[in-house]
Amino acid sequence: MLAVFTDLDNCLLDHDTYDFAPALPALDRLRAAHAAVIFTTSKTRAEVEHWHRQMNLAHPSIVENGGAVILENGMPVVLGATREEILPKLRDAAAESGARIRGFSSMSLDEIAQRCSMPAERARFAAAREFSEPFVLESPTLEDALRAAMSARGLSLTRGGRFHHALAHEGKHAGVGYLLSLWRAAGSQVTSIGIGDAPNDEGFLALVDYPVRLTPDGAGPSAWNCAVIHHLDAHVSFFRQ
Ligand SMILES: [Mg+2]
Repeated sequence: MLAVFTDLDNCLLDHDTYDFAPALPALDRLRAAHAAVIFTTSKTRAEVEHWHRQMNLAHPSIVENGGAVILENGMPVVLGATREEILPKLRDAAAESGARIRGFSSMSLDEIAQRCSMPAERARFAAAREFSEPFVLESPTLEDALRAAMSARGLSLTRGGRFHHALAHEGKHAGVGYLLSLWRAAGSQVTSIGIGDAPNDEGFLALVDYPVRLTPDGAGPSAWNCAVIHHLDAHVSFFRQ
C-alpha cells in the first residue's frame, strides 16, 4: 500500500487562505491509486473532520501533533495525555521558568480566529483541543528555560507554523510510527511519502521512505501537488499511470 503522511498548514492547505484547490490533481492521482492520505497535523480531530469533508477523504489521521491517532473507524488511540492533564503542568512550568505564555485555553474564539486567520465557525473546531495545548510564547528568550521546566513535568515543547505546542508525548512521529507498525503487523508492504514544512515535522519525516521538506518560500498546495506527482512518477512505479 501507498501511504502519504502530510502536514496541513502551509503544505496541503495554504498558510493564509487555507485553499487546497492547487493540490486537487495530486489528490485525484492518490485516490485512483487507493493511497491512504494521512493528515499528520497539529490540528484537532474536529478540524481534521472538517477538511476530510471538504476533500472527500476519511480517517485514519494523526491529530494534535501526535497526541492521538484516529483510526479508520473513528476511534482515537491516545498516545499522550488529555489536555486536562497537560494544562496545570504547563501553567506550573511557565510560572517556574518565568516565561509568559498565552494558551488557547485563555483565548476567546474571536482571538483564536484572528490569530489563525480563519472564520469564527472554524475557530470553534480549532479550539476543541483534546490532547495538547497550543500557545503563544510572549517571552521568546525564555524558550529553553520553559522547555526544561516542561520536561521536568513530562511535557514536551514543539513548534508549528503559528504556535508553540505543549504535548505529553514526543510528537507527530509517534503517530506515524504507530500506524506503520499497525499496517506492517497486518502484513502490508507499505511505501510511504511524508510532507512537512516546520520543525515539528522533522521527526516523522525521518520515518518515511520519501520525505519532502517544503521550504518557507516554496510551500503550500501548489508545491504539495508538484512534490506528490514527482514522487508518484519517479519512485512509486507500481502507481504510475
Ligand atoms: Mg505546517
